Amino acid sequence: MPLPIVAIIGRPNVGKSTLFNRLVGKRLALVDDQPGVTRDRREGEANLLGLEFRIFDTAGYEDEDAATLPGRMRQQTEAAVQDADVALFLVDARAGVTPLDEEIARWLRSTDRPIVLVANKAEGRAGETGVIEAMALGFGEPIQLSAEHGEGMADLFGALLPHVEREDEEEVEEEDSENPNAPLKLAIVGRPNAGKSTLVNRLLGEDRMITGPEAGITRDSISVDWEWEDFDGNKRPVRLIDTAGMRKKAKVEEKLEKLSVMDTLRAIDFAEVVVLLLDATRGLEVQDLKIADRVLQEGRALIIVLNKWDVAENASSLFNGVKGALDEGLAQVKGVPLLTVSAVTGKGLDTMIDVAFKTRDAWSRRVSTGQLNRWFERAIEANPPPAPGGKRIKPRYVTQNKTRPPTFVLFGTRVDLLPMSYQRYLINGLRKEFDFGAVPVRLNLRAPK
Ligand code: GDP
Ligand code: GDP
Repeated sequence: MPLPIVAIIGRPNVGKSTLFNRLVGKRLALVDDQPGVTRDRREGEANLLGLEFRIFDTAGYEDEDAATLPGRMRQQTEAAVQDADVALFLVDARAGVTPLDEEIARWLRSTDRPIVLVANKAEGRAGETGVIEAMALGFGEPIQLSAEHGEGMADLFGALLPHVEREDEEEVEEEDSENPNAPLKLAIVGRPNAGKSTLVNRLLGEDRMITGPEAGITRDSISVDWEWEDFDGNKRPVRLIDTAGMRKKAKVEEKLEKLSVMDTLRAIDFAEVVVLLLDATRGLEVQDLKIADRVLQEGRALIIVLNKWDVAENASSLFNGVKGALDEGLAQVKGVPLLTVSAVTGKGLDTMIDVAFKTRDAWSRRVSTGQLNRWFERAIEANPPPAPGGKRIKPRYVTQNKTRPPTFVLFGTRVDLLPMSYQRYLINGLRKEFDFGAVPVRLNLRAPK
């Protein structure tokens, strides 16, 4: 799927190259600086607050003979606009509208391409008159921008968004944003005697195919590759990461506590999904909550599994008790999956792996910017942000800039002052709307200066 195309047009010196450089950053693709070569366009891959597109800069005719300039400019401008999904028509807010700007506006009136008018060099208040003059060009109110200082980028984002969003982004991607066939990296952690070794042996035993064990990943880390047959009969690769149960018991016996903490941390490091195994006959203890908290802090997907369910007494009150303690103890993330298994009988293990795969899918999910902002508008309207000290906070846009774990950036005026409770409102809203379940979701706040 090719990226959408944005053209930057305008007379010389309005700041086209400056905007181009700001949007393309270091990813500059094509600059032809050889003397004697006609440089019609520069072209690059741009990233504006998470929106990605190709950008053409039509600069390069500054040195042309003044008599032929308008003719060549017209040709180039029209060609660039024709090829683009949207064109940014730049004027210089400080200099005001010039006859050449008006002429370009006339050329553009006949095109069927969308045009976004931009009043550049509008930092501070220096551009106010130019902004008002620019309204007369017939393309509505200009976006006020300072390409040089990076101001107004969120508004530019908002103006471009409807034009550069790709069709195939409309749906929430259900699949792993990386390779869905890559092995599920699963770690099983828990206190000594929770049943980790028994569980691993059970998983790897029977007719399961073991393609390991192999020393991989790091110097002293162990992993085992095998395949799990899902409920539809598909074979799906799983990589068990550095689980204590894979080692000789004798080695760990002495410094059991200490070693298991180190094992746990290393396993968390390499895993996508972490199963925290609890001994149902002992219930949830503070140390378990600490591990759970650590897993979430590291941005990993967490599943909590009550083992030895075959010998659990008062099953339902035990289950509800652990559930309640989890929701209370892990205040940041409600509803972490809680499952029951028996490593001895094998009951519940298929469900556990199934949930692990589904959790990885959510952890890897990417939501389109358009979808995000449609949800965002509703969320802000339903519950407007507070005004601490009488100062209004104006959230503008949200984009997802990372997966694994899903990470979002919120742009807007003074959003860095949003109280935790409001951030949590947004994070929980994201979770619900886009089905992130209980995987850690991160929200970064960015307020333009
Ligand atoms: P182009 O000919 O349209 O590509 O314009 P340039 O990008 O080469 O910019 C022309 C001049 O305007 C340069 O001196 C830039 O530093 C300056 N310029 C560009 N953007 C801004 C801005 O936002 N504010 C101010 N004050 N100057 C700018
Ligand atoms: P680890 O230290 O976490 O690796 O725990 P082990 O796998 O060594 O298990 C500790 C003890 O719990 C052993 O005696 C196991 O037989 C027992 N155990 C493990 N899983 C189960 C289970 O599902 N049911 C029952 N009844 N006992 C279990």
